[in-house]
Amino acid sequence: MHLSYKISIPKPSNHMLNVKISLSEFDFDAPFTFFMPVWSPGSYLVREYSRHVQGVRCFDEQGRRVFVEQSDKNRYTVNCQHPDFKVAPRSISFEYEVYCNELTVRTSHIDSTHAFIHGPSVFMGIEDHAMKDLVLEVEFPPLWSNLSTTLKDISTERAVFKYQASDYDELLDSPIEIGCQETDGFMYEGKEHWWIYWGLLPKLEWNLKQDIEKLVAEVAKVPGELPYEKYMFMAHFAPGLYGGLEHSSSTVLAFDPLKMVNRKSYLDWLSLVAHEYFHVWNVKRIRPKALGPFDYQKENYTKMLWLSEGLTVFMDELFVLRSGLSTVEEYLEQQKTNMNRLLSTAGRKFDSLEDSSFNAWIKLYRPNENSMNSTVSYYLKGGLAFFVLNAWLKPFDKSINDFIAKLWSDYKSHPESGIDEDIVFNIIESLSDKKTRDDFSYLISGTDDLPLEAAAKECGLEIVFEQSLKVWTGLDMKFQAEQVFIDRVHLDSPGMKDEFNSGDELITIDGLRVMKSQWDKHSEWLKPEQKYQVVVARHGRLTELELTPARSPSLIKEIKVLDAKAVSKAFGL
Ligand SMILES: [Zn+2]
Repeated sequence: MHLSYKISIPKPSNHMLNVKISLSEFDFDAPFTFFMPVWSPGSYLVREYSRHVQGVRCFDEQGRRVFVEQSDKNRYTVNCQHPDFKVAPRSISFEYEVYCNELTVRTSHIDSTHAFIHGPSVFMGIEDHAMKDLVLEVEFPPLWSNLSTTLKDISTERAVFKYQASDYDELLDSPIEIGCQETDGFMYEGKEHWWIYWGLLPKLEWNLKQDIEKLVAEVAKVPGELPYEKYMFMAHFAPGLYGGLEHSSSTVLAFDPLKMVNRKSYLDWLSLVAHEYFHVWNVKRIRPKALGPFDYQKENYTKMLWLSEGLTVFMDELFVLRSGLSTVEEYLEQQKTNMNRLLSTAGRKFDSLEDSSFNAWIKLYRPNENSMNSTVSYYLKGGLAFFVLNAWLKPFDKSINDFIAKLWSDYKSHPESGIDEDIVFNIIESLSDKKTRDDFSYLISGTDDLPLEAAAKECGLEIVFEQSLKVWTGLDMKFQAEQVFIDRVHLDSPGMKDEFNSGDELITIDGLRVMKSQWDKHSEWLKPEQKYQVVVARHGRLTELELTPARSPSLIKEIKVLDAKAVSKAFGL
């Protein structure tokens, strides 16, 4: 079987990508099916990429029409034996267009300034056939000067852009940026590392490339080797963007350019870079059994995203600290924020890390106003579970680095297959003892609160709670022009007890009109334990409710360093 793809962008401003798949050296006697992936590895949501596909058609090498029937939302069956269109082709050309106008890290985007091609959203595959040694040819407008991808360049002529993918997974896992993007790079351990970006950046006081270089060195030294030929950091900067997606030898990052100016947000950017880069090892190679080889046509369930994302979250801010790009104070402030977010999530009492991971497809990736009351993020709680594990390894003179090194050597002993929880727990036991293994496994499968205070103490830190005097209604607001609406109602909060609903519009409090521009003042004059008469509009009807705010639950005020030496040792500084 010989399979090659050709994509072209005749008019970028209409966002269309033309795709032509040529198939030869193939048994055309039996019907066969092209499919469009419904999701992207690394982003656990069924996205139905085929909804942007149009104009599906098929021809033989003489230009005769070949019969194609859509057999499912994302599947197209080719039948060369159909009585009305009987052909005996030597090769076929399967063609369609894809509308690409969604600028995220897991969708494709084409406009007059660039084309970002995200494989799963544009490349159909053939069911039940091993798709190997694929060729991709790309045609794009002559005004664009660059094509960036980690696919192997096999072009032999100027102005003809040809690439090779060893298989369908690599084709989907290799994003492509075309346009006039900035390109730069550096060598590390004798390998090319590309830094390319599209979008405008304000003048910054930081050197992005140098900081990425520092992170690469810091991250790579933990597993101790680079498992790729070359690596590409591909970024999109535009207002409101945030996100990252990991690939085996690249990552796509999206960030708001104006946020790069502020130091705190810049640290978020650096954590994002470290996070996606560490995925080279954790999830792209060390991975739960369900995550590779992939079934691109349906949900791939795993209970282990606490490892893939939780460990990566714990390491990302730590790598930034270790590389000298943040201070211990800034790192502890980040951990305080993480811990307070977890403590403010009532849903942690209902979903374990395993549950949250398994249901990522319908919960974490499809949040609603009740999410914080019913579930917990495996990113957030998973990250802090590894904060705890790192502390638990300390009495055994081991750390999270030893855990990662062992995961990596386990991966190398069976790279073709993923891992299960037992392998992870066995590694923990080998670094500590049976009790630590059992305790950690209990954290993963249970809903008890994480022992954060004890873990912090083990690392030479003290968690100090504030005695909150602040008023608390448990109602999160959202605004539309001058209108004030209840966005979310926290579980067991005064607002929930007093029967407020998400979606209620606040009209008056004790007769005083509620407006967005006055909202700060309303928040100020409410006092705990006082009763207020509130009029809300609910489904077009005015309703009067009584609200009795309370004092806000106490959160962490600061994480104090008690023993600087112990901190350095615990966090590998
Ligand atoms: Zn991640």
